[in-house]
Amino acid sequence: MSQDSSLKKWIEISIPDLSGKEKYYLDQCIKTNYLSSIGPLIEKFEDEISSSVGLANGSTTTTSSGTSALHLSMLVAGVNKGDLVIIPSYTFIATANAISHAGAFPWLLDIDSKSLTIDPIILYDELAKNVVVNANHCIHKETGQRVAALVPVFSFGHPANMDKLGEIAKEFKIPLITDAAAAIGSKYKNLDIGPFSDLTCFSFNGNKSITCGGGGAICSPNKDLVNKAKHLGSTAKTGPNYVHDQIGYNYRMINTQAAIGLAQIERLTEIIYKKREIAKKYSLRLKIEKVLDPLPEMDWATSSCWLSGFVINESSLIKPKQLINHLNKKFIRAKEFWRPIHIQQPYKDALRGNLKVTNNLWERIIILPSSFSLTFEEQEYVITTILDYIN
Ligand SMILES: *Cc1c(COP(=O)(O)O)cnc(C)c1O
Repeated sequence: MSQDSSLKKWIEISIPDLSGKEKYYLDQCIKTNYLSSIGPLIEKFEDEISSSVGLANGSTTTTSSGTSALHLSMLVAGVNKGDLVIIPSYTFIATANAISHAGAFPWLLDIDSKSLTIDPIILYDELAKNVVVNANHCIHKETGQRVAALVPVFSFGHPANMDKLGEIAKEFKIPLITDAAAAIGSKYKNLDIGPFSDLTCFSFNGNKSITCGGGGAICSPNKDLVNKAKHLGSTAKTGPNYVHDQIGYNYRMINTQAAIGLAQIERLTEIIYKKREIAKKYSLRLKIEKVLDPLPEMDWATSSCWLSGFVINESSLIKPKQLINHLNKKFIRAKEFWRPIHIQQPYKDALRGNLKVTNNLWERIIILPSSFSLTFEEQEYVITTILDYIN
């Protein structure tokens, strides 16, 4: 092996950095005996989330995962059994699964090749062609199904075109639920993202920019929706005496998750700054005409840069899998990113539009080591290994 022995450990794609007050807050959980779903750190963490997305205290409820946040959001937004929910096919499978958990069906649409988020022009065309809007509902003409929500996904932490999507959601009377799973700390037109959607969902899984180990959150400018989600996610209990008014879920976050989350979110600015620096450096050094294209940042977006990477240019002869293998041999963790929903077994029959951009792009997108703790030397090593391979 030719590489420097000091680098003979894997350079991971996205691992947590626990160098803040994680241990201090965990100690507090143990000292105070608050481990579970009642505990002072949960509300503190929720208030921090609200403020980081530009909403007032009381606008966030935490959950056990990003997936449970999405599922609860569907339910409180009024997604019912048999409804359709629009998502980009280019997303993590949890977006589609949350719809299925609510008894509804995804309607898969294409991304635009510039932002890699749902394409508002295609979305508008599909709606204009395929739905009728009556007093309160948007109905898919051919199937008679109600179109009950629109779910943009902030791919790699990059905001979608929220002004356009907001206008479309309003015109067609469809609630807007944003899957911003990995996009806490991102901005849209320099503004916090919370006010742009009816509901915004986050994940604090171990591989996200900030983590609780596992966990999620729902934010909304409408506190009624937040309270409904909190109620439904806490077994729909109405008080301390085992009275429940609906079939609820146990989707609560616990105090030890919040302990880690709180320590992490205190460092959100620092963490996002570093992630953006990592992305900028890859973009600068790996932008190679007709060979590699950096992941995008549109003029409306300040991405949280959850994951960095590149798109292998259409005209390049580089085989993504071979490049990945080469990097893996050098202990650099690199991989293909999301496999679109429409080619996943459980969704092979899902309603879909023309997905030519997704089909054309997904196999050429490669993600690279992007952890907060990535060192200067490690990133140099990743970059030079890639440049050596393609030259
Ligand atoms: C991570 C992620 C989720 C799921 O979050 P979990 O906490 O793993 O349940 C959903 N959507 C997207 C876009 C994600 O990246």
